[in-house]
Parts: sequence; C-alpha cells; structure tokens
Amino acid sequence: MTHAEPDLALALDRAHVFHSWSAQGTLSPLAVQTAEGCRVTDTAGRTYLDLSSQLVNTNIGHRHPRVVAAIREQAELLPTVAPAHANLTRGLAARAIVERAPEGMSKVFFTNAGADANENAIRMARLHTGRDKVVSTYRSYHGNTGAAVVATGDWRRVPNEYARGHVHVFGPYLYRSEFWATTPEQEAERALQHLDHVIRAEGPASVAAVLLETVPGTAGVLVPPPGYLAGVREICDRYGAVLVLDEVMAGFGRTGEWFAFDGFDVRPDLITFAKGVNSGYVPAGGVVLSDEIAATFDDRVFPGGLTYSGHPLAMASVVATLEAMADEGVVDNARRIGEDVLGPGLRELTDRHAVVGEVRGLGVFWAVELVRDRATREPVDADAMARVKAGLLRRGVLPFVQDNRVHVVPPCVITPDEVREGLAVLDEVLAEVGPEVV
Ligand code: PLP
Repeated sequence: MTHAEPDLALALDRAHVFHSWSAQGTLSPLAVQTAEGCRVTDTAGRTYLDLSSQLVNTNIGHRHPRVVAAIREQAELLPTVAPAHANLTRGLAARAIVERAPEGMSKVFFTNAGADANENAIRMARLHTGRDKVVSTYRSYHGNTGAAVVATGDWRRVPNEYARGHVHVFGPYLYRSEFWATTPEQEAERALQHLDHVIRAEGPASVAAVLLETVPGTAGVLVPPPGYLAGVREICDRYGAVLVLDEVMAGFGRTGEWFAFDGFDVRPDLITFAKGVNSGYVPAGGVVLSDEIAATFDDRVFPGGLTYSGHPLAMASVVATLEAMADEGVVDNARRIGEDVLGPGLRELTDRHAVVGEVRGLGVFWAVELVRDRATREPVDADAMARVKAGLLRRGVLPFVQDNRVHVVPPCVITPDEVREGLAVLDEVLAEVGPEVV
C-alpha cells in the first residue's frame, strides 16, 4: 500500500473493524501506515513523534531491522510449531529471559499476551498453595481475560464468573493518599499495614497470591515509595502467599532496568511479562516461575496451555529484541534519558504551568497529572484532556492520555533531541490549554 489511499484505511476501519474499549460511533482513529524508530507515519504521509510507544510496548522502537529480519528468517524456516515440541528458537528465548531474571527462576511459560500471563500466574499460585484468594490493588490493570480483568482494580474491572476469591486493597499513591500520609515513608508504612490488615481479615490461610504491577502503569505510573515492595515481600513470606509481580508494562527497559523490580530490592515468586519483551512485533507474553513453584508441577499436570504458546515467530522476535537491546545499550539509554533529560524536563513543566499537579516516573515511564487547582488537586475534566490530546496530535506528537494524565512513555531508544522536541510541544500545549482550565 502506498500513501495514495489515505481514505481507504479509515473507510474500511469504519465499515468493518470493531474496536476495543470504545463506543464504536465516536471513534476517529489515526490511520497508521508505517513507523520507524520513534516516529509513526499516517496514510496521509504525516509523521508523529511517538510518545506513547503505542500501548507502551514498542520499547526497542518501531521496525527495528534486526527484529524484522529475525521474524522473516524464522518464517522461512518454521513459521509455526506445536508447543509440545521442543524448538531451538523457543529455548533460546526462554534462556534469554531467564538470564535476566533473579537466580532460582529458571523456567518460562509462554503465552500470547499480558492478560493470559496473569491468568496463568494466578492459576499457578492457586495450585501451588492450594489456596484461593488473590489480593491485588484498586489502581491496577492486569488484562482483559477472565481472572485478569477481575484482578484489575480500575474502571475496566468486570465482575464475572471468575470473581470469586478476588480481594482489592489500596496501594501507595502519595499524591492522592488513601492513608492521610504526607511523606513517602508514611505512605509505604501505612499501605503495608493496610495490606497486612486485609490479609488477616480475609484469613491468611486462604490467600494464594498478592498480585501487583511493580510500577502501576495505566493507573498513573505510581512509582512505589522506598520500602513498600520489600515490605510486601515480607508480608507474603509471613503468610505463605505467592508474590506475583506484573512486569507487563514496566519490564524490559521501560524503567531503565531489565525488570522494574531490579530497582526496588524485591524478588518475586512469579513474574508476568509481555509488551517490551519483543516490543509487540508478534504477540507474546509469559510467566517466569521460581524453581520452587515450577517443581510443584514436576509430577503433576499443569492444567493450562495455548495453541500458540511459544510461537516461533514470537520467539524469534524475543531473541532478536533482547540481543539488540543488550548490544545497543537500550536499557541504559532509558535510564539515562529519564535521569538526565526527560525527568528534569518534565519537572521544569511543573514550574512553568499551574495546571501540572505532579510529574512522576523513572526511565521512559512518566505521567504528568493535570489539575484545576493545585491546592485541592481537583483533576481537570475529560474535555480539557481531549483538548490536550488534540493539541499534541496537531503538532505532530502522539500521546498516551489516560484520565487526567499525559503519560510520556516513548520507546526506550529515544534520543535527547527527540525528548526535547516532545517536551517543547507539550510545553506549548500546556500553555494553550492550561490557562483555560486552571
Ligand atoms: N498487565 C499490565 C500491567 C498491563 O499494562 C497490561 C496491558 O496494558 C496487561 C497486563 C495486559 O496485557 P495485554 O493487553 O497484552 O493482554
């Protein structure tokens, strides 16, 4: 397809594509034709700086030649194979993931995405412990399948036949503290007391797992305060619950670490991943298991599997992505960008615009929270956010807008100049919309 048919993509979309999480009649999607690095081009030939990484997944950037070549080569060799067969590409992918995981976690169960990774992690934790309940947080997203969407705490939670045994707690979020905390230390301590309380009230012997996003992403990039995750680990150990860390959005470079928990002095029992593991070039996700949990299934069937688990095209893209990320220092780049350019640049916006309530994040994982009033922290409304989004798009920047926040989540390969370009546009848009709403 060339750029000659801009309207056809939109017309076919409107006629035949049923979109996720949307009222179908109100859609006006961007018709994306191609992309490269941190830039996305639409069917009219217009280019946008991608500060969204699509759904926060293109960590290595768009159309990386090594990953594209690996997928092509694998397609010529063996484009599909049943999960029951051994396959070298799958083994290499599993090894590449395990090499980056903590010691004593040497097995990977592959899935097609993040939701089914959480689905299977929950099942593993329940079977391993013989218990039922899963504790997760209100401000979370774990995917849109049976148990994963019930574990989800935000507006997308859909109570369904899997809802039995799911319990929600508040996690730390100092800016809107549920615990009347005024310091990160207080927030961590009180959130831990709350978690401990809820587990005791539910009956510790009934709690199979605590499932947390290491850094809750869609809920607002809620970087946990020091001590929180280590405290959760202690609580899980005390009560014999499995700690599942959902690294679907935060993992594989986004925070400037291979796994986000590497920056937080905590070790999970199960890790769920997807997105950044292969930047979404082919759908892939999975669960990394501790050896102890894996051993539960040495002489007992794990009742779970998917036709495309460990699909060779996905596996080839995982191997190539992780190799290229290592060779090109992509994870270090994300960390340095966060520390030296993006973090400081966003904090400067807080000084310049009263509409910015708080910026928070790390690596290439940031949220800018917009408020009508800094004293009351009242969020700006949906109409203001729509204007912010439109203003960014009009100026050639593709944002990730969620509730009252602009999430600045570019590919991990973004350059300082590209960051400065994005920041300048965001500055302009906040100067335009801010005074109308504050
Ligand atoms: N977990 C987290 C933290 C996520 O952010 C997402 C998706 O955004 C998921 C799970 C679900 O992943 P998927 O959409 O690949 O099923």
